[in-house]
Amino acid sequence: MKDFLEAIEAGASGDDIAAIPVPESYRAAYLLRDDIDMFEGLPSAEKDPRKSLHVGEVAVPELAPDEVYVAVMASSINFNTVWSAIFEPVPTFAFLARLGRESAYGARHDLPLHVIGSDASGVVLRTGPGVHNFHPGDKVVIHCNYVDDQDPSAHEDSMNASNQRIWGYESNFGGLADLTVVKANQLMPKPAHLTWEEAAVNALCNSTAYRMIVSHNGAGMTQDQSVLIWGATGGIGAYAVQHVLNGGSIPVGVVSSPEKVALLHKLGVEAVLDRRAQAYKFWKDEFTQDESEWRRFGKDIRSLIGQDPDIVFEHIGRQTMGASVFAAKRGGVIVTCAATSGYMVEYDNRHLWMKLKTIKGSHFANYREAWAANDLIVRGKVVPTLSYTYPLDQVGEASYQVHHNLHEGKIGVLCLAPREGMGIDDPAFREQVGEERLTLFRREQA
Ligand code: NAP
Repeated sequence: MKDFLEAIEAGASGDDIAAIPVPESYRAAYLLRDDIDMFEGLPSAEKDPRKSLHVGEVAVPELAPDEVYVAVMASSINFNTVWSAIFEPVPTFAFLARLGRESAYGARHDLPLHVIGSDASGVVLRTGPGVHNFHPGDKVVIHCNYVDDQDPSAHEDSMNASNQRIWGYESNFGGLADLTVVKANQLMPKPAHLTWEEAAVNALCNSTAYRMIVSHNGAGMTQDQSVLIWGATGGIGAYAVQHVLNGGSIPVGVVSSPEKVALLHKLGVEAVLDRRAQAYKFWKDEFTQDESEWRRFGKDIRSLIGQDPDIVFEHIGRQTMGASVFAAKRGGVIVTCAATSGYMVEYDNRHLWMKLKTIKGSHFANYREAWAANDLIVRGKVVPTLSYTYPLDQVGEASYQVHHNLHEGKIGVLCLAPREGMGIDDPAFREQVGEERLTLFRREQA
């Protein structure tokens, strides 16, 4: 991969890049099937990604006709990196086995090791014979919706496809590596004003937030609505906030420290609740919720914005779902894409039906939504939320930070890129968007 890096750094043409031989192996972060029982009996918090994530050479797979090889310059940690590395809620090897049974090319994925990672920025090295929109040398970012376009159910909204998968979680050869293999319909243009690491952190979280907030497949927010956003400086929350502000609505951000409150104010959010300072205790014990705490929470929101939220951006799950359903306004929508604190959720159904509320499930984004979300980044309307970067060799530590909520925004991972700050092709537009906005989330390394 060294030859590719030198060519990319030297600004080589697509033809020159296409002439460099693809190596037989590449450096990647992977999990081992033999390790899936290593954390048995431990509580989630003690399952340590630093122990399960390995970094080393793996074989380059054959290319299918609709696929491309991409040299990965940078990638990012997503919460699915954490889930896969702690083998929760299920080890990912069952997903690979299922994909392996689907087709001859699918069989490549069913290996005793799983290269994970669902984000990347980089350069196209080779294209399969069926690829026509992208070419060697193209600078790209990669979204994680892995869809079989020969499946009829994939053609209204590909997220509804019967065998829709998340690349690098439910498929192999993910983005936490120096090279990846993806379908051409996962590629999108790299925003020219961003560094490799800034470009790498957006696709998964920004597209997810876009579908949940903006798309008609999610809450379909209109102007002048109010949106309650849990984890408003976290991976998906910090993009949700930007979509709400851009759409002319009012965000109410929930975070857990004065530093995060200050960050949200800088991002333009006036209404912020520090859940730790407020000490909300929605559960009296493991089995009983406290409605008086839901009421206190609802009152606090109303005191900030004078109304109940039209939309609740929910992903915390068990800890907060009762409060979210309660807090949404009459006729409001609770849009949920996750359950970090537990997926067996509980809420008082009377608050849902009597007040005509809707709970809407959402999962990543289809290609159109991911492209639209990326376009907002390309045009500087949404900015990356990169806080730190780690080298690929420290991917376990980077995942540990996210697992324990020690981060803000997104953590980037440098793969082929030897250092931060590389990859900016349009410095003039960068200046126009503003260095301060683009680096709002940057922090000293933890
Ligand atoms: P993240 O960067 O860790 O952010 C999550 C935020 O949630 C944290 O910043 C934290 O904010 C807040 N939080 C954590 N525990 C909480 C609790 N008990 N009560 C209230 N707030 C809590 O993760 P992310 O990338 O935003 O992902 C969030 C979830 O969405 C994960 O479960 C992930 O797997 C899922 N996800 C799903 C999709 C999909 O397509 N379905 C896509 C992306 C992510 P404070 O501590 O500041 O409050």
